[in-house]
Amino acid sequence: MIDLNTQDLNEVNIQYIKGVGEKRARLFNKLGIYSVGDLLCYYPRKYQDWSKSVSALEAPEGEVVAIRATMITPVQEAKIRKGMTLYKCNFSDGETVIHVTIFNNKYLAQALRTYEEYILFGKVDKSFTSASMSSPQIEKFDIADSIHPIYGATESLNSKAIAKVVKSVLDNLGELGETLPEEVKQKYNLCSLDFATRQVHFPSDVKNIEIARKRLIFEELLMLQIGLLKLRDKKETKNETRLTGDYFSEFEGLLSFELTRAQKRAINECLDDMKGSTTMNRLVQGDVGSGKTAVAGAVVFSTVKCGYQAAMMAPTEILATQHYESFKKLFKDCDIRLELLTGSTKAAEKRRIKAALMDGEIDFIIGTHALIQNDVEFKDLALVVTDEQHRFGVEQRASLAMKGTSPHLLVMSATPIPRTLGLIIYGDLDISILDELPPGRQEIRTDVVDSTFHTRIYNFIKKAVDDGKQAYIVCPLVDEGESELISAKEYAEKLQTEVFKDYNLGLLHGKMKAKEKDAVMSAFARGDVQILVSTTVIEVGVDVPNATIMLIENAERFGLSALHQLRGRVGRGKDKSYCILVSDSKSDSSAERLQVMKSTNNGFKIADYDLKTRGPGDFFGKRQHGLPNLIIADMLEDMDTLKACQQCAQEMLSADPRLDSYPALCKNINNMFRKTNY
Ligand code: ADP
Ligand code: MG
Repeated sequence: MIDLNTQDLNEVNIQYIKGVGEKRARLFNKLGIYSVGDLLCYYPRKYQDWSKSVSALEAPEGEVVAIRATMITPVQEAKIRKGMTLYKCNFSDGETVIHVTIFNNKYLAQALRTYEEYILFGKVDKSFTSASMSSPQIEKFDIADSIHPIYGATESLNSKAIAKVVKSVLDNLGELGETLPEEVKQKYNLCSLDFATRQVHFPSDVKNIEIARKRLIFEELLMLQIGLLKLRDKKETKNETRLTGDYFSEFEGLLSFELTRAQKRAINECLDDMKGSTTMNRLVQGDVGSGKTAVAGAVVFSTVKCGYQAAMMAPTEILATQHYESFKKLFKDCDIRLELLTGSTKAAEKRRIKAALMDGEIDFIIGTHALIQNDVEFKDLALVVTDEQHRFGVEQRASLAMKGTSPHLLVMSATPIPRTLGLIIYGDLDISILDELPPGRQEIRTDVVDSTFHTRIYNFIKKAVDDGKQAYIVCPLVDEGESELISAKEYAEKLQTEVFKDYNLGLLHGKMKAKEKDAVMSAFARGDVQILVSTTVIEVGVDVPNATIMLIENAERFGLSALHQLRGRVGRGKDKSYCILVSDSKSDSSAERLQVMKSTNNGFKIADYDLKTRGPGDFFGKRQHGLPNLIIADMLEDMDTLKACQQCAQEMLSADPRLDSYPALCKNINNMFRKTNY
């Protein structure tokens, strides 16, 4: 084995560790482990305490326990049927005979020796005179006297095998180099990295697990905070594209409505930023329907009128296309040259657009990720807007920002996150909040019903469509393993042939090509499609004010925030809108959750409730915040540590702005943020 002590562990491929090799390395890769560094950060999910053994008599029925016992009869083998062999043997803990049955595990059965002492780990079934255990874990007593780490494993790479490799690495490593400054460790009462790493994998005592975790969580959150602060630092760049004036009132003249006070405030904040001495980095946060697009429009309009280019990036082609269509209409008499660039733009067209962007012949470009590809260059990019930015990683934002000399950045998000947390995770941005909905908006009426109401709901939809309105129907969410595609298709077909024979239905699902999606979506926006059956791909941002009904099947399977986003697709015009949540769930908690949807239209209240009842893991499900993935820390659960780390990061950076004294920590931070690019 190579000498690990002379290497950068993040550079040593896991395959060179004794007992791994090329083939097994691939199994480790599946768990996201590529280097020895990754392996050491692959922390156990939980632990089994084998150190406190009980006697079979004391063992509580049905609970997993460790029993120290001697094997007293040799293994008897019995073939029950093809492919199923039972191994039976008896153990004694000194007072009770324990009948042990092992299924199919020949390797284990052959390794057992009579009169040797073992630890049996599992559940005990007790009868009057004896006890039995079915497929317990069995270890020799001398190596079993400890707390066992349990790792997230796969079928072909189990926890025990992972533990063995981790152990061999740790045994071959001298003391791990410290990454945190001594003062920080002392001030926050943190153990050394060496102690933390060894104890988190193989704790010698239960209380060491907490000591180790405390240090590792702190370090991870500290790295996050330092990274974010540096990102902000990078962005506090000189404003090279100052707006010389603004065209706010001219823009207002284009609109068919009066802007809300909140919209005006946000627009003015943006325009002030852009006239200032440093570039803008601003988040506009507003609930669904609060009119974020108009804010972006006003800022884009002023930018372009001052002679610069502007870009707007949306997370889906549907949304990008929709923004393109509506801005084309809004700006039709304004002499603004705008174009759409997405993944499905034809190659020749792409070439033309790219050339035109470089020559400054396009004023405003709208698009998807395609906009941040390396070969897209601008002549004079002054503003980048990202819509629904929570779908983008921090790095992606930064990457687009790098394209201009130093463009202003405006990010728009409907994700309602608790304010304290927002200030921390969006630490690199100033925030404008749209806390007001456009006037005349009627509350969306939300009802929770079970599936016996289907006929009535369908009739209700027919009536609305007969009146010229449109409806969304969100398909049942499928279980893992089932095909979303098949179930959505089947459901749409059933609706078309059995329920809505005389109506135009459209189907939208995740597996469709972007072009097809756009075609369906535009047909719906035009009103040609009356009822849009969809999987959750419509969740974000689309705007069809004529749609007034949102029917969601299996509502209990969605997170409340997702339901709120879906509901936000209706109630966008002046007509009364309805959200119908269908659920047959018998569980009290899901009933309660759905009632919350009925009781409020306020996204922040809903997010708070979601947070309290589903836990932070779900709240940030799918990493919607776009921040680096945290391995051990949890931003909400470890909120206090997060706050401490924010302060600590500030102190460290003001003492040593480039962190020259902590090269190892810097390297780790760079790694952490590099991985954000998905
Ligand atoms: P979101 O904040 O969810 O992105 P949008 O920008 O899509 O919201 O706006 C929702 C709808 O409200 C659109 O149809 C838009 O034209 C309309 N709208 C926006 N601002 C106003 C306003 N001040 N008065 C009336 N309608 C508005
Ligand atoms: Mg929007």
